Amino acid sequence: MNAFLSIVFSLAIVASSSASPLRVVATTPDLGSLAREIGGDDIDLTVLARPGDDPHFLDAKPSFIRLMSRADVYIETGLDLEVGWAPLLLQGARNARVMPGNPGHIDASTVIDPMEVPTGPVDRSMGDVHPTGNPHYLLDPRAGRAVAGLLRDRFSALRPDRAQAFRERFADFSRRLDEAEARWDARLAPHRGAKLLGDHNLWVYFADRFGLEMAGYLEPKPGVPPTTRHLQHIIELISRERVRAIIVSPYFDQRHADFVARNTGVRIVPLAHQPGSRPSSDGYIGMIDHNVEALASALDGAK
Ligand SMILES: [Zn+2]
Repeated sequence: MNAFLSIVFSLAIVASSSASPLRVVATTPDLGSLAREIGGDDIDLTVLARPGDDPHFLDAKPSFIRLMSRADVYIETGLDLEVGWAPLLLQGARNARVMPGNPGHIDASTVIDPMEVPTGPVDRSMGDVHPTGNPHYLLDPRAGRAVAGLLRDRFSALRPDRAQAFRERFADFSRRLDEAEARWDARLAPHRGAKLLGDHNLWVYFADRFGLEMAGYLEPKPGVPPTTRHLQHIIELISRERVRAIIVSPYFDQRHADFVARNTGVRIVPLAHQPGSRPSSDGYIGMIDHNVEALASALDGAK
């Protein structure tokens, strides 16, 4: 090979390694939003669940398997959130890069402190969809920061030539999250200790972060539909415990919350369980902005 051609070839190799984006598949929009924050133009991102979906229950479509078979990185929430559908995709994709144990397989729950981890034996036949702990940690900004740090580290390991860009984007995200947390703390400070209900058990990390208290849920167990008897118990609980609002998520049938609200006068607060699942809740920080403002406004008027 002459000198000219060898220079052309080595330039081509450099160009392809630095210019080809990492092909990233994220299971849920919150993980997708964090991946975009850190990955920027250095990733080619696909998010499997749509913002309004219940992430516990998704169809494992053949198109998802094709995406997974070409992916460099797979990011999941873990704590069994995707256990009903993601294992089928991983199995079908036959792609070693994204299998557990390899750097391209990212279980985001490995960098957070799980809440509600059962201490005794768990009976999945009862329909509990949180058998290994509560998987809805990304509604707490502390978890968002930790997961963003994990993505920075893994993306850097897979694309060392772009490590500085990943570091810079993390620093920028972390700075914007700091500013937002100060804003959120101030907005919710007057409501510390407020008791709330949820439809599904989504809000325990969010409540922990902002000093709120989850008094109960419309579902008797996570994933088990409300029964009349349980709703009667919830109606009694609202007056006994002075519960101030019911948080509802976009995919959950609201007629149960409506029934409870009609019988108690308690407010219904629609919050975003994922970025983009409510109007003006786009992006990770935008999702929490929406949730803090919607909840604080409802509590302002519900003293
Ligand atoms: Zn859940």
